[in-house]
Amino acid sequence: MNKESRFPAPKKRKAAALDGIDYKITQNMTVADRSGNNEIERLEALLEQVTDPEIPVVSIRDLGILRDISLHAGQVTVTITPTYSGCPAMSTIRADIRQTLSAAGYDDVRLKQSLSPAWTTDWMTDEGREKLRAFGIAPPQKSAQGLCAVVSPGTDVKCPQCGSEQTECISEFGSTACKALYRCLHCAEPFDYFKCI
Ligand SMILES: [Zn+2]
Repeated sequence: MNKESRFPAPKKRKAAALDGIDYKITQNMTVADRSGNNEIERLEALLEQVTDPEIPVVSIRDLGILRDISLHAGQVTVTITPTYSGCPAMSTIRADIRQTLSAAGYDDVRLKQSLSPAWTTDWMTDEGREKLRAFGIAPPQKSAQGLCAVVSPGTDVKCPQCGSEQTECISEFGSTACKALYRCLHCAEPFDYFKCI
């Protein structure tokens, strides 16, 4: 290992930041990458207030819809990936993003849509899944491979109320197209299951 790589020049990086170079945050960034940029952290906190209109406890970050936030010369670019084409919640989410940022003084907002790779329920954060469960919705199954596990109706869906696996699918369509209606055979409570995509 040479001397230069062992001792990176922090001064240079700091100067670049002050020049107004692009700040970027992506879903895969670690906390360390994000730190030191208060404004991006502020934007991130603001966008945390934007939630699924149908499930107000989960934010667009929890859902994995929020892909990227960048700031350049005062313009905020927010990149989102729609859950599935034709999801009626997406137009509300777009409007909410603009409104939330505008209320905080960000009027120059660009909304970018990233369609590839396509969103899957595997992008939902663990925190988001826990919030869903607490809200009474069974979260989508996640496979060990990181790909959506195919769930056949009536199997493997845990009751969000009592945790029982003794559940049955009542209808492939619950309160919205992305949910199926289940019933717990243990506590008899009906519940929505957020279907795997
Ligand atoms: Zn139950």
